[in-house]
Amino acid sequence: MGVPSSRIYVGGEWVEPAGGHYGVINPATEQVVGEAPEASAAQAEQAAAAARAAFDGWASASQAHRSEVLAKVGDLLTKYNDDLVPLVQAETGATMRVASTMQVPVAVERFQRYARHAMESRLVPLPPQAIDATPLAPGGLVGAVIRRAPVGVVACVTPYNFPLVNMAGKVAPALAMGNTVVIKPAPQDPLQVLRFAEIAHEAGVPAGVINVVTGSTSDTGAALVASPDVDMISFTGSTAVGRRIGEVAGRDIKRQLMELGGKGAAMVLEDADLDKAAAGIGSTWAFHSGQICTAPTRALVHRSVHDQLVEKLVAYAGFCKVGDPLDASTVVGPLISAAQRARVEELLAEGVAAGATVAVGGQRPAMERGFYVEPTLLTGVRPDMTVAQEEFFGPVVVVLPFDDEDEAVAIANGTPFGLYDYLFSQDTARAYRVAARLRTGNVGVNTVARNHETPFGGFKHSGIGRDCGVFALHAYSELQSVVWPG
Ligand code: NDP
Repeated sequence: MGVPSSRIYVGGEWVEPAGGHYGVINPATEQVVGEAPEASAAQAEQAAAAARAAFDGWASASQAHRSEVLAKVGDLLTKYNDDLVPLVQAETGATMRVASTMQVPVAVERFQRYARHAMESRLVPLPPQAIDATPLAPGGLVGAVIRRAPVGVVACVTPYNFPLVNMAGKVAPALAMGNTVVIKPAPQDPLQVLRFAEIAHEAGVPAGVINVVTGSTSDTGAALVASPDVDMISFTGSTAVGRRIGEVAGRDIKRQLMELGGKGAAMVLEDADLDKAAAGIGSTWAFHSGQICTAPTRALVHRSVHDQLVEKLVAYAGFCKVGDPLDASTVVGPLISAAQRARVEELLAEGVAAGATVAVGGQRPAMERGFYVEPTLLTGVRPDMTVAQEEFFGPVVVVLPFDDEDEAVAIANGTPFGLYDYLFSQDTARAYRVAARLRTGNVGVNTVARNHETPFGGFKHSGIGRDCGVFALHAYSELQSVVWPG
């Protein structure tokens, strides 16, 4: 494969963008990686119309056919892995380890998984019910079956941190269920998604089943989600944008799957294995520079072990080598953009002004180019400070001490978010009990590892609905009840 197409993909055709092109910037070098298409609002609507036109054919295709096509997409993604990884690194600034083990392989795994799920029965049989006669109808045994039907056209709007993985997490289950899609990737790194469209085309995805539109401003995405041809919006991104999209969707009763922001609490109880806790919390620095919605960015630490844990975290941050993502020894790469770095720096300054202490980091490392921020630990943080309430989406951890379990639970639950919290304790029965008090969609006990079979999503402002595993398949379906006399 050569340079990814600089055209949008609509109805199985590569279409010249109405608004020209814009440069995609490598966050490590600040050089232009390539030119991305600037689609117009009308083109976003045309893409939704193309998905609408393809819907009946794809929805009525056999499950075996849909499964084969998804499996083929996964196979071709694997085949082109070595071409994709350098592009992923150039666009996202992901380190070698993250790009090669997480970005492409996880996208492949998602297509393979939903190729399998595509074969699952769409029917849920119910036992016959004995129904008494009413003025409406005579009584008798009444049978019923529940059928899962596709929702229709799904707009898949994705964030910048894992462009392929996020896209695959939406497109694969949506297609498995018989929906058609329009993908609107984030403006910072859309080229790999355009390359994905080439792969889907080669895999034999029928025209209009997958469409991709890109643009540097919100106009493209806004036109897409408002299109009357869109039945469902599957959005991953910030809570602020999710709210705007939700308002638009609400007007037309469009279905929504919303995966939004997080401010994960890692609660370190007095009996915790502190090395394990420090390694878990340190993943905020070591994994994609903290640009992860599930990161344990708030360390809630029992006062009796506070100083010890802070010492371990400072040491951990010292081991996280900041540098060129192409260097295999680099642990912390750049943030996605100058704007994102400015946001992180502004929040940090606000925290210090409010009385927090920088225990480690807090500066730009001595690099000539790139949007880097050092792994940073803030101590002396109070729950009401902005740095304890708002997402950094960068390599920053804040430490909040607590004296007892009730206070820890109150701090953990004391933000608008509820995506992913963590508990570190050697008493797992206690951890399990505390987990039930957390207003969050996911809880990790003594681990930051994910289990991809579990439903993933948020409480409160962290989202609506669940994806991952079989739950993603269900998220892209409507239930239809069919009733008949027995
Ligand atoms: P943004 O919310 O800024 O953007 C996400 C996507 O929405 C982009 O494609 C963006 O493109 C698009 N968008 C923006 N405005 C509109 C609009 N009015 N209508 C339609 N689309 C729009 O998120 P980021 O890309 O900055 O990603 C970081 C955020 O994502 C963090 O808050 C993080 O927590 C969250 N996230 C959540 C995850 C989860 O699973 N819960 C996983 C990963 C990230 P454009 O700006 O060009 O319109």
